[in-house]
Amino acid sequence: MSLETGPRGLPPTASTAPAPTCAPRGFERTRIWLFDLDNTLYPAECNLFAQVDRRMSEFIAELLGVPYEHARYLQKDYYRRFGTTLSGLMRVHRLDPRPFLDYVHDIDLSELRELPELGAAIERLPGRKLIFTNGSRGHAERVAEKLGLLHLFEDICDIEACGYVSKREAAAFARMIAAHHVAPEQAAMFEDVPVNLEVAHALGMTTVLVASDYIDHPAQAEIKKWREPPAHVHHVTRDLTSFLAALAPHAPNSG
Ligand SMILES: [Mg+2]
Repeated sequence: MSLETGPRGLPPTASTAPAPTCAPRGFERTRIWLFDLDNTLYPAECNLFAQVDRRMSEFIAELLGVPYEHARYLQKDYYRRFGTTLSGLMRVHRLDPRPFLDYVHDIDLSELRELPELGAAIERLPGRKLIFTNGSRGHAERVAEKLGLLHLFEDICDIEACGYVSKREAAAFARMIAAHHVAPEQAAMFEDVPVNLEVAHALGMTTVLVASDYIDHPAQAEIKKWREPPAHVHHVTRDLTSFLAALAPHAPNSG
């Protein structure tokens, strides 16, 4: 069963998709476009995050002097309990976040290709565009540059700017909103991890889940179990470029 929904609250593209219980929020009022970075602006199939994932385990093993497998258990446990592995390391072990972020983001980007069609679609969206990531600014800049997208974004709100609080928590959104003067009801957020859209929904943003059939990612495995998207997920797409391309001609003028 497909969970895909068309942009602007149009009927689902697949006839087998469930009818929404209420009309999802559209993009008529959207003036600020918030994009997650990893597995959202580039496809999960690139498997880039696997490198970050492995380096987190390596860092924890070295930091705590524990075997790799135990470090891996702690990494996943902290992710579940605190929203990011880093949050857990800071809370439980009083870790200095910067060496951790430098290490885990020191990855090979050779798998990434420029995405000119996605860039063109983003460029046509009316209004401001921001990257909102649980990673570091440096990582976001490197990746977005490699994708040929960096110049399209006004700024990057990274985990440091959010006080090292994950997007699962309202405090991260409060910092982003204050720093970038975002009116939530005029914002749309694109993200591959469903739980990161809960606060966005509660604040009145339009939410778009960028899903993938890449089966090894825990967020995508969760999505596959859904009979229909939860209320905080207004739209689902497996093709961000097409979704945005369909949206842009109907969106309001930025002037
Ligand atoms: Mg992501």
